[in-house]
Amino acid sequence: MGNNGILALFDIDGTLVRGARCHYQAFVKAVDKFYGMKEDISGINYAGKTDPQILKEVLELGGFEEEIIEKNFQNCLTYMTKYYLTNVHQENVIALAGVKNLLDLLEKEKVFLGLSTGNLEPIAYAKLKRAGLNEYFSFGGFGSDHAERPLLVKKAIEIAKVRYNYAGDRIYVIGDTPLDVEAGRKAGARTIAVATGRYSTSELQKTKVDFIMDDLTDHESFIKNIGL
Ligand SMILES: [Mg+2]
Repeated sequence: MGNNGILALFDIDGTLVRGARCHYQAFVKAVDKFYGMKEDISGINYAGKTDPQILKEVLELGGFEEEIIEKNFQNCLTYMTKYYLTNVHQENVIALAGVKNLLDLLEKEKVFLGLSTGNLEPIAYAKLKRAGLNEYFSFGGFGSDHAERPLLVKKAIEIAKVRYNYAGDRIYVIGDTPLDVEAGRKAGARTIAVATGRYSTSELQKTKVDFIMDDLTDHESFIKNIGL
């Protein structure tokens, strides 16, 4: 575990890895099974949203009433998870350029690593495993903790403090969307945005982000940004 006072919380999709077809399919299968919904849900902008938030939006798009949505909501999330874990082996989840070496470097420098992702926790770890990145992470805040992203970032910070005695105050949230930036700021963290998801650097510049990077290949800049 890191002990140099820096905590780095990474988003997964579009930040550490790409390839979310199986995750998308899990949503499609689950809403069909529990709600009989077969609409095309590919038009929704999922970037930066949590799994429960996405599921709710999908079902609202399908015109379901709150009460109906609530009734099978947890079952639907559970089914999604099962579907994902069963089928992830067919998916090509790829670590984005520079990521593995950066994580090695941060570990070596004793930066404390965690996750802040909208993925449900079992999906998050299965996805990272598929990309060969699961061994860097042992805790985080997940979509299964909170539907609202700022709250799951706070949860990750709380776990760092309570479970791992993290006592520093140099906390960074690294993500690829304006929602990551907003969530990090609301949780009191500094933020780094990477343009490896669906947002370009100029779009990310419109947020109140502290640092923007084209991708995670420039390790020197990353190290400088987190003040190492
Ligand atoms: Mg993302």
